Amino acid sequence: MKKCPHFPFMCDRNVCVKDDDRYTCGYDLLSLLDEEDVKLFEDDAKKNGYLAFPIELGLAMLRYTSPDVFLEDGKSISLRKILEDYPIYPHEITSGVEHEKYNLTASEFNTPCVLSRIIQKTNLDSKNVYARIGRVIHFLMNEQLDKLIHNETLLRMGAPAMDRRMYCERTLEFVHKDIIVHGHPDAMFEVKDMLGVFDNKRSMHVKHTYFTQETIYALAEDPNRERYLLVVATRPYGEIEFAERLPNLDVALIRRGGEVIRRTLKDIEESYIRQAELLRSDNPFKHVNKRNCVTSSGPCFNYEICKELYNLWRIERTELIDLLNDKYTEEVMVDKGFLERGKHILPKKLALPQDL
Ligand code: SF4
Ligand code: SF4
Repeated sequence: MKKCPHFPFMCDRNVCVKDDDRYTCGYDLLSLLDEEDVKLFEDDAKKNGYLAFPIELGLAMLRYTSPDVFLEDGKSISLRKILEDYPIYPHEITSGVEHEKYNLTASEFNTPCVLSRIIQKTNLDSKNVYARIGRVIHFLMNEQLDKLIHNETLLRMGAPAMDRRMYCERTLEFVHKDIIVHGHPDAMFEVKDMLGVFDNKRSMHVKHTYFTQETIYALAEDPNRERYLLVVATRPYGEIEFAERLPNLDVALIRRGGEVIRRTLKDIEESYIRQAELLRSDNPFKHVNKRNCVTSSGPCFNYEICKELYNLWRIERTELIDLLNDKYTEEVMVDKGFLERGKHILPKKLALPQDL
C-alpha cells in the first residue's frame, strides 16, 4: 500500500503506469466527478489526515490490522482469532429488490431526528458539503470502469476476482412487518461461515447506528446465516496533516436471534411509527427534539431545508404530509435551490409511512 502522489488516495497497484494515456486506476475515476466536489474532498482529506481507498484494500486491511471484534455479550476478541487462515472474498449480492416502493432507508437510522429522516428520503437536496465529499469518497472506493483492474488486489488476497458491480453498492431490500427498507452497502464479503458487511464513513467516531444499518443489509441479503461480521471504517483520529494513516476499523460479530438483530427490528418498527405520527401531525415542529439541530459536529445537514419548511408551515398550518405534497412548497424549494425544477418533493419510489 502506498499513497498516490497525485491525490489523497491509497494506491492498490504494484506499478504506476499509463496505458493508452490513462492510468487505469482510481486516478482515472476523478475525471468523472464534479471538479468542485473533488476539490472539496482533496482539501478535506489533507486537513483531516485521511486517504480514500479502493474497497479491495478495505477488505485486505481486515487481515493486516486485526482489530478487536465486539461480541454481543459485551466481550471482545481479536479478529485474527476469528478469521484464522480463512480467505476473505467478495460476496456477490443476489437478493435484489422485490418492491419498487420503499418506506425507510437503512442509512436513515444514523440521524436521530425523525423529521430529518423524512427529509433525507425526499428529493430535497441540502447541497451539504460533507454529503458531497462523502459521495466522492464512495465513488473512488466502489466504482469501476471497464478498463480498471482492481482484481489484482483480490487475487493477492487469495480471493477470486470479481467485478465491483457484483458486490458493491447494490440495492437491497429488507421487509419487516410489511415495512420495506431499502439501502446499498459499500461492500459485502464472505469469510468462513460468516456473511460480512463493510461500510466506510467519513466520520471520526463510530456510532451504534452504523451497525444497525449494516445489520439491515446483512438480513436483507441472507436472513438465515448463523453469524454476520459487520465492519465500519471511520477516518483516522486527529485533524493533522499526516495523510498516510489507515482508517480505523470497528468490527462486530452478531448472531441470528441475538440482541443486535432484535434491537434492529424494534428500531425499524419504532422509526416507522414515529414518522407516521409526525407526518400526520398538524404541529410537526412541536414534536422534534431541537437538541439534534446543532451538535458539537455542526448543524444538522437539513437545517436550511427544515427552516424553510417551518416558515411555510407557519403560513399553512397543515399536516406535514400535506405540506410536502403542496405545489407552493415545491415552488419555494425550487426558488431556494433545494429542489430541481420538474421534480416533486416526494420521489415516486417513496411510500412515506402514513398508512398505519
Ligand atoms: S497507479 Fe494510479 S492511484 Fe496508484 S500511484 Fe499511480 S496514478 Fe496514483
Ligand atoms: S434542523 Fe433540527 S428539527 Fe430540523 S431536520 Fe435537522 S435536526 Fe431535525
